[in-house]
Amino acid sequence: MQIEHIDEARRQIEICNACRYCEGYCSVFPAINRERAFAEGDVTQLANLCHNCRGCYYACQYTPPHEFALNLPRALAEVRQDSWQAHAAPAALARAFHRSGVTVAAATVIGFGLLLWAAKAIGSAGGEGFYAVLSHNAMVAIFAPAFLLPLVAVAIGLRRYWRAIGAGPLRLRDLGAALGRAARLRDLSGGHGDGCNFEDEDRFSNARRWYHQLVLWGFLACFAATSVATIMHYVLGLPAPYPLLSLPKLLGVTGGVALSVGTAGLAWLKTRADRSLGDARVWGGEMGFVMLLFLVSTSGLALYALGSSAWLPELLALHLGAVLAFFLLTPYTKMVHGFYRLAALVAEAGRSG
Ligand code: SF4
Ligand code: SF4
Repeated sequence: MQIEHIDEARRQIEICNACRYCEGYCSVFPAINRERAFAEGDVTQLANLCHNCRGCYYACQYTPPHEFALNLPRALAEVRQDSWQAHAAPAALARAFHRSGVTVAAATVIGFGLLLWAAKAIGSAGGEGFYAVLSHNAMVAIFAPAFLLPLVAVAIGLRRYWRAIGAGPLRLRDLGAALGRAARLRDLSGGHGDGCNFEDEDRFSNARRWYHQLVLWGFLACFAATSVATIMHYVLGLPAPYPLLSLPKLLGVTGGVALSVGTAGLAWLKTRADRSLGDARVWGGEMGFVMLLFLVSTSGLALYALGSSAWLPELLALHLGAVLAFFLLTPYTKMVHGFYRLAALVAEAGRSG
């Protein structure tokens, strides 16, 4: 952790604790108001409760040119970013990927190339549809470790985070409360339900919350589509390809559309928002991650639409390459914020309950 970022965030948090004007805005301020002193772990936990809505900045009477020079969204964003990098396993990878959208794009291209190579070298085992390009066994051999190993890295990072913030034992009750809050993205409502000022100082808007909801639920629908297809393949003996009116396809198409619209919307909002209220070091890496997710969803939809055409091998390689890059980069890209935010909400539920 960079100590100057901790010290600056602590200075601003202490001013907020005296002021308390933004009390109802989000989960950060009730957590601040409970304490008198803020150790490094406390500051890190507050930073991970913040979702950079910027509502407190635009409401604040102590922003520059006032001598207090408050910019709480940025101060917390810098600590939050440091915490993801410091707790990642290995930390050097997180530093590289968070700061460079080009690296994210390069990793996608490498994933794409690997898949093309695998399709040619391993080939199919005489299956239909996708499996005529790359056999089912080859897909499992590539994607099972690519899915599980990053989850292990994320779990190591969360364990380090949990210890750093001094959280108590994990309780199911707190996990349930945090999941409910995260599912509704309640903290993106601005506290009063009208939304926040992320992309526009003068206007309250729920756009960021809605786009986030589309990404969250779209992603879960796509994950459910893959899970259902796995059960159909292994348990029911019904291998792909599936018709349009089947559960895997209905979930996949719905999730793909939601994910495409959500990621495009978040990227658009990001271009409109003031960069000085976030961690400017990682703007490119965050945008690269959003675009990677957009590529995952749109290439998946293209596969559904054009899967029976001569473009199948190229489209499949593009889609699987993007998915592969997405999985492998999960512990080191903005994707990790979802895990840390949930851990912060669980810890907060434990402290306030
Ligand atoms: S951000 Fe400004 S207005 Fe809000 S609590 Fe802090 S000091 Fe007060
Ligand atoms: S930026 Fe938004 S979420 Fe973060 S502390 Fe301010 S009001 Fe809360």
